[in-house]
Amino acid sequence: MKKLWGFQNKEEMIEAYKKQFQRFGWLCLDSIEEDLKKKEVKIITHNNFESQPYQKSFDNPVCYFISGYICGFVEVALEMEALRCYEMRCEGKGNAHCEFRMKPML
Ligand SMILES: [Zn+2]
Repeated sequence: MKKLWGFQNKEEMIEAYKKQFQRFGWLCLDSIEEDLKKKEVKIITHNNFESQPYQKSFDNPVCYFISGYICGFVEVALEMEALRCYEMRCEGKGNAHCEFRMKPML
């Protein structure tokens, strides 16, 4: 990872991506929690560009692009493979933030 991405460690990479996500205007990344026992990662974000136009309009989560993108980001940043991402909470259905949980498919 270090050679490919030019970062010294995971923390440095995550901090850089936090800034990058904001710079793109995509989202504000609040936290990344890694549960090693459950092999699960939880990400909290707010101001997602996908959910902003639809606040409280839908019954289901709406951040499909971001789900896929951050799933790939977590696979690289935390060196995990074949994750599946579930959006548990979403600003698009009236929650205060979007919450994504990722688990290995197998
Ligand atoms: Zn969302």
